Amino acid sequence: MEEKVVIPGDKLASIEEFIPGSGTASIGESIVSTVTGSKRPDMSNRVMNVKPARELTDAIPKVGDYVIGFVDSSSPTMAQVTIKAINDVPSHREFSGMLSLRDERRRKSSPIKAADTIRARVISTKNSIFHLGLDDQRCGVINTRCSNCGGTVVALGMDRVKCPECGLVDDRILSQDFVKPQRKANA
Ligand SMILES: [Zn+2]
Repeated sequence: MEEKVVIPGDKLASIEEFIPGSGTASIGESIVSTVTGSKRPDMSNRVMNVKPARELTDAIPKVGDYVIGFVDSSSPTMAQVTIKAINDVPSHREFSGMLSLRDERRRKSSPIKAADTIRARVISTKNSIFHLGLDDQRCGVINTRCSNCGGTVVALGMDRVKCPECGLVDDRILSQDFVKPQRKANA
């Protein structure tokens, strides 16, 4: 059987089917991968695990690293993030990161929402705080749900999503990793 590689943010199952195990987390109704690796569902205990392609890292994020994080809270200008992986390698430890957002458009709502999964880059570790930025197109939201109904959303360009369920159009700074697979699916 050919093994499919999953990446952080990939939906693996619903919370009705499985309990989130190692290398996974629950976001809304879904269990998503937090690591790059292969699915290892434990069918007898109904636990969904992902075996990381690479071993867990003890590394501490440093300037220039890409990190995968879950958004704990957010505002139009910043988001509080728990770092789960460094350069796509899952971390033994959880670090807190602070993502600063530019807000030239004076958004009414935050372009990154609590419970989103993001990829970001470490721009400074001053005062032992991991300051994160969205430097390039790989950075941004890699997994998100509708903030109104929790439905699956589709990308509208690189900075908005639309929910086909309830019709809500919402700001999101999207990673090309979120946008690209959808273009393929719709092609
Ligand atoms: Zn919706």
